[in-house]
Amino acid sequence: MDQRLSDDLADLPVLLHEARERAARFLAGVGERPVGPPPAPREPVPLPERGQGTRGALEAFERRWEPGLSASPGPRYLGFVTGGSTPAALAGDWLTSAYDQNAASGGDSSAADLERETVTWLRDLLGLPAEQGLAALGPVRVLSGTPHSSVGKALSVLGLGRSALRRVGALPGREAVDVERLEAALRELDGEPAIVVANAGTVNTADFDDLRAVAALRERYPFWLHVDAAFGAFAALSPEHAHLVDGLGAADSICLDLHKWLNVPYDSAVQFTRRRDLQARVFRNSAAYLGPLGDRPDYLHLTPENSRRLRALPAWFTLAAYGREGHAEIVRRDIALAARLGERLAAMPAYRLLAPVRLNVVCFTLASAPEHIAEVARAVAETGEALLTTTEYAGVPALRAAFSNWRTTEADVDRVAKALERAAG
Ligand SMILES: *Cc1c(COP(=O)(O)O)cnc(C)c1O
Repeated sequence: MDQRLSDDLADLPVLLHEARERAARFLAGVGERPVGPPPAPREPVPLPERGQGTRGALEAFERRWEPGLSASPGPRYLGFVTGGSTPAALAGDWLTSAYDQNAASGGDSSAADLERETVTWLRDLLGLPAEQGLAALGPVRVLSGTPHSSVGKALSVLGLGRSALRRVGALPGREAVDVERLEAALRELDGEPAIVVANAGTVNTADFDDLRAVAALRERYPFWLHVDAAFGAFAALSPEHAHLVDGLGAADSICLDLHKWLNVPYDSAVQFTRRRDLQARVFRNSAAYLGPLGDRPDYLHLTPENSRRLRALPAWFTLAAYGREGHAEIVRRDIALAARLGERLAAMPAYRLLAPVRLNVVCFTLASAPEHIAEVARAVAETGEALLTTTEYAGVPALRAAFSNWRTTEADVDRVAKALERAAG
């Protein structure tokens, strides 16, 4: 064995302890570290011929890369929709690497059953009906109101082509689909295969399609109903907002991101489908040594990946640790914090909200000169106080503040509001 490798093996508990110490130090300071430091250029370093061992690598990481990492797991990173990692999710994520299970097949480990249990818990958490599994379809039209950018990419990857996507339009002043225009588009297709991508939570304004009305169109037109519920599915955990996802269970397929509002580490997405048979037809991996499909196929036959880490474990941990109540509290608090920032901005003459704060996203711009809003984002980022991402809403340059982290408090919102107030001059 290579000398450094055998040294590391002998020292493994100590090395893990040192990595743990660094992680703990980073997390202890995450609330105060600059939230989104602009990446500085770095001199490239050639591939080391002789490695430096884990301790040397930890030191090199800390010296060269650590100072430039963002506080994205912290309380005032409001860009994209970025959850943090709950303590339990982090513990689960570490153990995922330590146990290093191939979760794709269930023959030699209980890992696959753990994933099934996690999926069942998530279904229950979000109140989805008891269909299971994870979906795909010839020349197909894809209709949507305000599709996320990932939809076009997915169509390209699938070979359906980006041009398959038709935006049917939203209601006036909204990002929610205009159901009458959607119906007209379906009528025009005259029975040709179609997918409707409905939205439960748009990125800019967290707007929701009327899922019941969209699902009801299936009585008259044939289509596959996919709901993009990446973060919006979690509205189900707030009694005052659960109505936004009414009808979600009628979808043929749903996707959601656990690294957003469930606060597990990147990356962790789940797809639910009513048609596990189709799922298995698409993703089945036939080989003599892999065995027959049976009525409870290994995930290997249901997902695009063949080899896959035990991705469910962080989600299992955080659900086991905090349960429905704990996670509902995070969701309710983030919604209240978004409302608070919305109120603060509405009271500042320099800013104007571009949409009502429906859930956890605040979309706003400068009242008098929206074209300068990106400068505000930069100024706030440079203070290190917060990070917000730029966007364009209804043709207006804007900022969005997305609340999805379990650490964020009212005091953080007040700091963000102050930083925004100063940045507007
Ligand atoms: C995050 C998100 C997605 C998917 O983004 P990924 O980066 O692929 O996880 C899709 N739709 C919406 C509304 C999202 O917020």
